[in-house]
Amino acid sequence: MADLLRICALYPDVMNIYADRGNLLVLERRAGWRGIEVVITPAGFGDRVDPDAHDLFYLGGGQDRDQVLCAKDLVETKRDALHAAADRGALVLGICGGFQLLGHVYELGDDEIPGLGLVDLKTVREDGPRLIGNVAIEVELDGPSGRPRVLAGFENHGGRTHLGTGEQPLGRVLKGHGNDGRSGSEGVRRDGVIGTYLHGPLLPKNTWFADWLISRATGVELAPLDDRLEDAAHASARRAAGVSAVGSPN
Ligand code: GLN
Repeated sequence: MADLLRICALYPDVMNIYADRGNLLVLERRAGWRGIEVVITPAGFGDRVDPDAHDLFYLGGGQDRDQVLCAKDLVETKRDALHAAADRGALVLGICGGFQLLGHVYELGDDEIPGLGLVDLKTVREDGPRLIGNVAIEVELDGPSGRPRVLAGFENHGGRTHLGTGEQPLGRVLKGHGNDGRSGSEGVRRDGVIGTYLHGPLLPKNTWFADWLISRATGVELAPLDDRLEDAAHASARRAAGVSAVGSPN
């Protein structure tokens, strides 16, 4: 247990669509308010990462062309370290374009954008409209013993993501398109490796999930905060998706 949260922000300038950097700010503030020191280390093109030096590796969303740029560097200079980090139980969180790059490949027309292969999935840019809109999913992060919770956000992706047969989604789609608009699955979770299409950014609208990440990354049991504003933001995101909370804010 350590009152220190070490985050590695992968390509923070490039992979930052829909203000995904807001996720880092929420982690920083909510950990800081609990007396946990937060160190955020950016890792850009050509930078090597130390798998043991960070508790959470974060990769935000990006346009196709930004993903192409990052994918090559990611695979060439960071792939092995990220596998080692995931193997020792570090958290790896990928949002939208970042989620797609956690898998094997993103097929974009004639191009095959390589991914990290941390999870068994592939993404295909199929014919058809982009999958856009407000989205809500139900997740059970602590297994059947934990109560199901809702994550709400916004999705906008042309890629359709298909999970391998042994892979579990992060959640079940309540409203919205999810991974491919058909399966009812959203995101992926294998131990500490988590991917989701939810932007908005994700964590300001779902601070309970930010706390879950902080707690899991640090081992610190977090004291509750005055979350009236945050609960209102969550409720608003749920209303936008058409999944209002009944009885409880979450
Ligand atoms: N470029 C990817 C797609 O459109 C991801 C976009 C994003 O991160 N919002 O599928």
